[in-house]
Amino acid sequence: MTETAAPPEYLDVVIVGAGLSGIGAAYRLQTECRAKTYAILEARDTLGGTWDLFRYPGVRSDSDMFTLGYPFKPWLESESLADGPSILRYITETATEYGIDRHIRYRTKVLAADWDSQAARWTLTLEHRDAAGAIETWTLTCGFLYSCAGYYDYERPYAPEFPGISAFSGTVVHPQFWPEDLDYRGKRVVVIGSGATAVTLVPALAEQAELVTMLQRTPTWISAVPGRDKLADKIRALLPARLAYRAIRTKNILFTIGFYQYCRRRPESARKFLTGLTTRILKDDKLVAEHFTPSYNPWDQRLCAVPDADFFKAMKKGKAEVVTDHIDAFVPEGIRLKSGQVLEADVVVTATGLRLRAFGGISPSVDGARVDLSEQFVWQGTMITGVPNFAVCIGYTNASWTLRADLTSRLVCKVLDHMDRKGYAAVVPEPRGKLDERPLLDLASGYIQRSIGEFPRQGDRQPWRVRQNYLLDSAATLRTNLGKTLSATPRSAVREPVPVS
Ligand SMILES: Cc1cc2nc3c(=O)[nH]c(=O)nc-3n(C[C@H](O)[C@H](O)[C@H](O)COP(=O)(O)OP(=O)(O)OC[C@H]3O[C@@H](n4cnc5c(N)ncnc54)[C@H](O)[C@@H]3O)c2cc1C
Repeated sequence: MTETAAPPEYLDVVIVGAGLSGIGAAYRLQTECRAKTYAILEARDTLGGTWDLFRYPGVRSDSDMFTLGYPFKPWLESESLADGPSILRYITETATEYGIDRHIRYRTKVLAADWDSQAARWTLTLEHRDAAGAIETWTLTCGFLYSCAGYYDYERPYAPEFPGISAFSGTVVHPQFWPEDLDYRGKRVVVIGSGATAVTLVPALAEQAELVTMLQRTPTWISAVPGRDKLADKIRALLPARLAYRAIRTKNILFTIGFYQYCRRRPESARKFLTGLTTRILKDDKLVAEHFTPSYNPWDQRLCAVPDADFFKAMKKGKAEVVTDHIDAFVPEGIRLKSGQVLEADVVVTATGLRLRAFGGISPSVDGARVDLSEQFVWQGTMITGVPNFAVCIGYTNASWTLRADLTSRLVCKVLDHMDRKGYAAVVPEPRGKLDERPLLDLASGYIQRSIGEFPRQGDRQPWRVRQNYLLDSAATLRTNLGKTLSATPRSAVREPVPVS
């Protein structure tokens, strides 16, 4: 008798990634689509994504945890801008509290995903690494694929080639792979970059280093914000935890939207406001004009928030400085600049940024044909034209990531429910009429501009455009008429009908 191989396992939904988004997505799925079977496939050994990967000194959020946290799980710690380990603890606690951890399959990387239109299901090619590092490849099938794989490459950060770097006699590190045992006590450190990572690293390193120099090509908008939210403390003292969390969250959502709108609508005034704030702290007009007054307007690129002005305080103590110049070449003793100045350094930190990667490197194919994502449009920031039963979780760039990520997960549940009620095996968004293209991530930041061409685009109108405004987006997303834009395949039309869950 010949043995027939067992068919691959089938799950209703597969979530890719156990970061902040994947755990939030699982919570929504198991509370709003209770009967669905699901698993989270996670390439790494642990959950938390960004908040586990990044280990550099001082790593923290630069948006408040009342909005970066989940709406269903109050943030109870005292700091509003939290350090990386606290955020990781919060994500881990959420996964354990709601039994989500039991659904995570670690060391399981999704390499490829192929949609079979006849059977209305995905076949995923997975690579599993066991504890000893041995690699095995196998397949899994699912009805719906939800990518919560973040937006950047975990293995390869953006690392431009600097001339002469091999001649440098000191140590070069990238924040994405911080060596645990790096000793920078009493040393001269140069941090290349001026983004959120650089402004976080500078005051943290300055606590032990002799001097930290932030070397930037051009200035970035940096705003001092309170590390602790005093109004939030008062609200917490008055109201029960859940109610207080909701009230503070609403306050912060409104404040963030208001400040963003102010920056976009009145850029000159916003420039003056931010420059004035920094001048009041540093008390040096020339310093602010030279190093903290960008040519672009606030929120053309992400605004960097520094809690309790820690960055500026390190400068005032003489422990940190900013140099605005271009690198000519590395030399044995440090970095020679285009101006001829040499910055002496024992350690150079290349805070040059992330390399964007769409959907965890999974390029979906439909019936064996690879879909060119850059040719597709994203519906409601969630599903993609030409790719049925597939959703992606991309958070906000001008507010806390989770605000948008949670809306997306709720929309995915709405779509799954709609499919069950109508008896559909598959749905795919289809525009009516021509859409004008807009970039998916609407920021001028270098790391976005370098790779945005690989991502699908947005359209110029609803429901093909995320407005980057939580209030407008939540109304549009949760009230959307699914029947109007989703083209459907009934269960009766597919070869192996997917059982009703
Ligand atoms: C240093 C830093 C600070 C930040 N600070 C803020 C902030 O203050 N506020 C804010 O709103 N945003 C911030 N962000 C953006 C941040 O990434 C998001 O807030 C959020 O953590 C993203 O969560 P995520 O789960 O979508 O993605 P990630 O955290 O990137 O998690 C994705 C997960 O998917 C897994 N994965 C990827 N591909 C595959 C695959 N093919 N197969 C299986 N698993 C896969 C990864 O291993 C990872 O665990 C910051 C980002 C960085 C890098």
